[in-house]
Amino acid sequence: MKKTAIITGGASGIGLAIAKKFTDEGIITILVGRDVKKLKHACSVLGENSDFFQCDLSDIKSIPEMVQRIIDKYGKIDILVNNAGINLKKNILELTDEEYQNIILTNQTSTFCITRAVAGFMHEQCGGAVLNISSMAAIYGIPYVIAYTASKSAIEGMTRAMAVELAEMGIRVNCIAPGFIRTNMSSVALDKDAARKQKVLSRTPLGRLGKPAEVANAAYFLVSDEASFITGVILPVDGGNSIGF
Ligand code: NDP
Repeated sequence: MKKTAIITGGASGIGLAIAKKFTDEGIITILVGRDVKKLKHACSVLGENSDFFQCDLSDIKSIPEMVQRIIDKYGKIDILVNNAGINLKKNILELTDEEYQNIILTNQTSTFCITRAVAGFMHEQCGGAVLNISSMAAIYGIPYVIAYTASKSAIEGMTRAMAVELAEMGIRVNCIAPGFIRTNMSSVALDKDAARKQKVLSRTPLGRLGKPAEVANAAYFLVSDEASFITGVILPVDGGNSIGF
């Protein structure tokens, strides 16, 4: 029987690469995002193992109902990838409360809400795998992204807490901390800031930005049965950026 996976933010960038890997491996893969046009286009590229559910994850009240609709249609959820995320590069003195809260809500609170909803069904099924997506921002201090940093640091803490609490339900919880990966999000952050891009490359031993497919390969391993004794891990997929001199 085919496995079923949810990938939030699965219609672009890293999420889409993970979706491609999963569908290629025969996993029924449900993309969640806000932009229906983008979701439809992604599914047309991914083919028969893909589907989508439209949901604005910052509207956290809508999450349990969306998860229930997925269960009604597919009967089970084996894998959840919490990949959706937003960033905003802005001086701390100018960042508004609303902007800060929106990033926390989208990146962090929604991760809790959807994991809680999905874990309830995984518990009934006697198991599953959850994968969170963090960032180098959780490892070292990057200026002008304070809300993003707070949200990603929380994701790493939640990964460990969830891994311990959900272990007895047969649910493994891991996290990937991508380095600097070539996507729209990183282009916005780096392409208009040559100094920052140079700094990123200079401290990345492998000397380049990563490809979304390189994150996807690690993601597939961590949610697969090959990783059956791995839980609570934060895996950097970063070309050595986190340990670069
Ligand atoms: P993208 O901007 O390409 O993808 C982000 C995805 O999140 C989009 O598909 C978007 O879909 C979805 N999303 C955003 N807000 C919401 C929301 N409120 N509700 C539902 N979906 C939402 O970025 P990346 O692929 O680069 O990033 C993916 C993840 O990887 C993020 O968590 C990011 O923080 C993390 N990351 C990326 C790095 C990089 O170098 N690229 C480095 C480290 C971490 P839609 O527009 O349809 O809502």
